[in-house]
This record gives sequence, C-alpha cells and structure tokens, in this order.
Amino acid sequence: MSGRFAPTPSGRMHLGNAYAMLAAWLSAHARGEDMRLRIEDIDVPRVMPGADEWIRDDLMWLGLDWSGDVVHQSRRTALYDEAFATLRDAGLLYPCFCSRAEIRAASAPQEGDRFIVYPGTCRRLHDERPDEAAARVRAGERHAWRLAAPHAGALDGRILFDDHVYGAQDYDLGAALGDVVLRRSDGLYAYQFVVTLDDLLMGIDDVVRGRDLLRSTALQIWLRQRLLDCGACGVDARWTPARTPGYAHLPLLDNAAGVRLAKRVRSLDLGHLRAQGVRPQAVVGYCAWALGLIERPEAMDAGEALACFDWRRVRAVRGRDLKVPDDVGERLQVM
Ligand code: GLU
Repeated sequence: MSGRFAPTPSGRMHLGNAYAMLAAWLSAHARGEDMRLRIEDIDVPRVMPGADEWIRDDLMWLGLDWSGDVVHQSRRTALYDEAFATLRDAGLLYPCFCSRAEIRAASAPQEGDRFIVYPGTCRRLHDERPDEAAARVRAGERHAWRLAAPHAGALDGRILFDDHVYGAQDYDLGAALGDVVLRRSDGLYAYQFVVTLDDLLMGIDDVVRGRDLLRSTALQIWLRQRLLDCGACGVDARWTPARTPGYAHLPLLDNAAGVRLAKRVRSLDLGHLRAQGVRPQAVVGYCAWALGLIERPEAMDAGEALACFDWRRVRAVRGRDLKVPDDVGERLQVM
C-alpha cells in the first residue's frame, strides 16, 4: 500500500503544490510506505505541454521521490471504459441531457464554493421513462453520465470518516454532492471517477490533499465501495479486502491578498523560485513551517522534516490564516 502524488499538469508547480506534495510524502513515509506518482492529465483541455516533465523535475529537486512507474491517466482510458461499463450495467449511472444553464435555472441558489447539487431532472426521466432516455442516447443527443447517488437523507448516503487534520466528518451524500458527473458530455471521464478508481487500482491507502477536496472524499468513499461491490476491473478478486484509505486534508495557502495560490502567479512558481537561486531545502523548510511542523521557517531536507512530522501539529495550526507574501522568494533566497 502507498501514498500518492496526484498533480494536474496544468502548469508549473507553485509553493502551494510543493506544500501539499511534501505533506503527502511525509505522511506516507511516516507510515513506512512509499509514494506513487500519478499525472492527472485526463482533463486534456487543461493540460499544459511539458508540465508533466516540470513536475517530475521539481519533485526530484525537492527530494520527494516515488517508486514504480509513473501513471498517466490519459493512458488508462481502456481501464476507465471497462469500469464505467460495469457501473452502468449495475444501474448506477444515468444519462443527463441538461445544459449548464438548465441546471443553474433548476437549482436552488448555492453558497460558498458555488458547487451545485444536480436537481435530478434527468434522473426522473431515467426512472420514469427509461425508453425515452435510451432513445435519446441512441439518437446521438449530447449527454453526460451521472452517478445515481443516494437521495438526500437516505441512510446509505450517510458517510462518516475521520480526517487526520479536520477530524470527524459526517456527510449526507445526496444533500452535499448529489448526482455528480462521471463522464462529461465531451466524452472525457470526470475527476471523481478516475481518481477513485485509480486510488483503488494502485493500492493507495493514504490520501493527502487540499481542504477543497474534503467534501469530495465522502463521494469517493461511497464510489469506491460501489466499484468493489460490482467488481469493476476485477478489483474484488485482486484487491479485497482493500483497506479504506486514511485521509488528510490540508489548510489551503493564500497569497497576500487572501486569494488561494494559483498556478497563474509566476512569482510563487518553482521555476521562478529556482531561477532566483532558492535552494530546495528553503522550499521544504518553508512548507514544513506552513504545515505547522516547525516554529519558524528554516532550511531542511525532506528527511529532516520527517523527523518533525506529526498530524497533531498540522491540526494545531489548521485555523491559522496563513498568507504567503508575493515576494516570498526573497526570503527563501537567504534561507
Ligand atoms: N489532481 C488534483 C489536483 O491537482 C488532486 C486530486 C487528488 O488529490 O485527489 O488538485
């Protein structure tokens, strides 16, 4: 069993990515496990050519190693097709013909992250007039495929898990996420589907990532169980009993203006920092400090950070509102 790096190659890694990668590496190594590297390049329009090599080079530069072959989601379509067909045959998916505008119009206004729970229009169509839905698919009408998740309030949709940083979590799947898309109308498989299947197939039992994915974890736990139940890609035979992963979600790093770090901000990307002469130990030490592992930023390598690693320390600083200054490179240069 292992942990994983699961970067999306949409640009050069920035400090926030390095921070998440370091945490994942530390967590796996503290458990005596190794790391796998999975390049999440399934969303082809978001992929930036060359970013995959930058990521590998930056991880090696940081001293964050991995074992085994690098897995590229873009090369696993045959596996995804197989698992997708298994879920569909098990009656867990339905076609959705709604446009984004139609979904927005039929939905109650949402707060916060603007995530919209699907209002169920095509689920009703599928339940009440399955022949009509099937005929529309056959006629080539543009459609996505959605997961028929438990309805809000349903007992089997109550997902409990314990996050290493945010503690006990309790989600009502139907109310919090609803019927998410597993295959988009452009034919590409969606993040939630491939990440769940890949974590299962790759024997990942330690998942560390940003807090923005906390709610997705509830869905992924549920979907993982469905994949096991229906034996998608032979998972039941080869992987049962598959250990449920441990989960840790990290506080997100913001820039000085309070906006989440993004790949667009050049001053914080590793290419820029490296060109400024920043050493990898400075980046690792800064990230270890951002994780709450040390009192103040000081240069260290990943092995030294491992000696300070404890999820309790991360938990203790989770409410801290950490803002990374735009000129952090200047501070890192002298570390
Ligand atoms: N590829 C995702 C990202 O870069 C991470 C997904 C995950 O950790 O599950 O945000």
